[in-house]
Amino acid sequence: MDRKFDQLLEKHNLKKTTPRYSVLGILSSREMATSQPDLEEVLGKEIDRVTLYRILKTFEEKGIIHKIIDLNGTANYALCQSECKEHEHHDEHLHFNCTVCGKLFCLNGTHLPPINLPAGFKAKSVSLIVSGVCDKCSTADN
Ligand SMILES: [Zn+2]
Ligand SMILES: [Zn+2]
Repeated sequence: MDRKFDQLLEKHNLKKTTPRYSVLGILSSREMATSQPDLEEVLGKEIDRVTLYRILKTFEEKGIIHKIIDLNGTANYALCQSECKEHEHHDEHLHFNCTVCGKLFCLNGTHLPPINLPAGFKAKSVSLIVSGVCDKCSTADN
């Protein structure tokens, strides 16, 4: 078991269960966000859908992961960057959905532009997805 995951689960008062380790393991091993169907496929019979759904929901509420809905309307999940874990709000950065390979990237280090809402409106979360061609797909073109 990864010590890093131990600390993460301890910090959020979550029980250290094998399914939770598995989900963290998959999400942390990827550069880009992982879709829910992808997670289901990788986990196979190890975790049933209901358990997976609960784990994702808990992790999201604790700010361990964040959800991104891609251009196809599919839910994707990615680990939040460590520096964001202190905050109550979600890990707010731009997301990039490549229209060629379909990968969804967390553009960590980017910040969302300030959004001026009309009086009386309060934002709870903001999500912004840029669609286009990623670095790998644009090099493959040339
Ligand atoms: Zn691409
Ligand atoms: Zn992200």
